[in-house]
Amino acid sequence: MSVSQVHSKVLDFEDARRLVEEQAAQVHAGGTEPVNLLAAGGRVLAETVLADRDLPPFARSTRDGYAVRSGDLSQLPATLDVIGEIKAGEKIERIPSNVGVGQSVAIMTGAPVPTGADAVVMVEYTTRHGERIEIVKGVSTGENVVPRGAEARQGNLLLDRGLRLTEAAIAVAASVGRSRLEVYRRPRVAVLTTGDEIVDGDATPGPTQIRNSNSYSLAAQILRAGGQPVLIPVAPDEPQELRRLIGEGLKSDLLLLTGGVSMGRYDLVEEVLSEMQAEFFFTGAKIQPGRPVVFGKCSAETLACDGSPARQASTYFFGLPGNPVSTMVTFELFARPMLEALAGQTPRKLVFLHARAKAEIRIKAGLRRFLPAILSGEFDTSEVELVAWQGSGDMAATARANCYIVIPPDRESIRAGEWVAVMMR
Ligand code: AMP
Ligand code: MG
Repeated sequence: MSVSQVHSKVLDFEDARRLVEEQAAQVHAGGTEPVNLLAAGGRVLAETVLADRDLPPFARSTRDGYAVRSGDLSQLPATLDVIGEIKAGEKIERIPSNVGVGQSVAIMTGAPVPTGADAVVMVEYTTRHGERIEIVKGVSTGENVVPRGAEARQGNLLLDRGLRLTEAAIAVAASVGRSRLEVYRRPRVAVLTTGDEIVDGDATPGPTQIRNSNSYSLAAQILRAGGQPVLIPVAPDEPQELRRLIGEGLKSDLLLLTGGVSMGRYDLVEEVLSEMQAEFFFTGAKIQPGRPVVFGKCSAETLACDGSPARQASTYFFGLPGNPVSTMVTFELFARPMLEALAGQTPRKLVFLHARAKAEIRIKAGLRRFLPAILSGEFDTSEVELVAWQGSGDMAATARANCYIVIPPDRESIRAGEWVAVMMR
């Protein structure tokens, strides 16, 4: 059969990305599992986390200083009596029951502000004379105090299902006493590399062979995106074995193929998938690197009890072009949102940073480019510059880069100093 049997659908980048996002919005995560809080970073929350008490649980001083009645400081300097001292974690019975007119209490950061006081004067604005304190700066009501429950009330939702657990979310979970959290299981993502020239593992490549790097770069990206990589043996450019291995891969939650999606005579991935009754959402995107990227859905063939062919629920797949940088970029642009959705994460939009181009860039118009680059700068300056590369096979140049410059398809040049979009990696 010939490639022409697969109806070609080459989309603009935005349309291709939108299509993936639409499909991703329809998928569900698999099961859930409990994890220890120490191992929960980067996982996706599968339950809600509520405040077990008011946050903060008491009016909290944010400074070392003196708790006062702000009205006592209308005339400066003011001199007040010091009636006690409250440190963080002070026993409740040692906290003065009231701060009266003309009185103050020495207080430390994180300590409860006593009744009667409505503000804290920083220690820097005070001079202590025995049991009296002289204050040279006024405070407004509430200054340097976080009222009880100002951050959250008992029972309020703090963390929602579908949230990827950042260090801030972990801090919140710890602060409400959750040492274990229910998270979604990592989706299994099959990686199937194709190509007669590819050798894997420790095998020594022949003079015209190359080592498999895509399976490993993809595994790293899958892990970072919250998936569990399942490496399938390298498929030859031969339909029967390719079909068998695709069938293997379709048993996972998502299948990523690399190589074999271009226009070459031995690029068989689309043909074989089409024979397997795959549905194709697109067979190319107007981007560089990665133009031949394919996105679709296919069900694995299984045999029913009576031996007749049966089908299981379909699995999404991406055919990523085999050039190593194309594989990496198309994973980020298209496979990642689907993987994140399968991991239970609430979908995120693709956002780009902006920086000034360090030097002029010349390109051909027509494709949206994602070119390996180095973002540098310090404090309030940032600039970005392409790395010198030999095209989308040049993983060594890409390993020196820390981002991609994103160039719209209608541009043929970017001036030095012009703002450009940047995708971090
Ligand atoms: P293809 O997309 O199959 O036409 O491959 C494009 C280029 O990527 C060719 O130069 C391949 O040798 C190379 N390539 C394909 N698969 C891999 C892989 N797994 N690791 C490294 N390079 C690859
Ligand atoms: Mg190939």
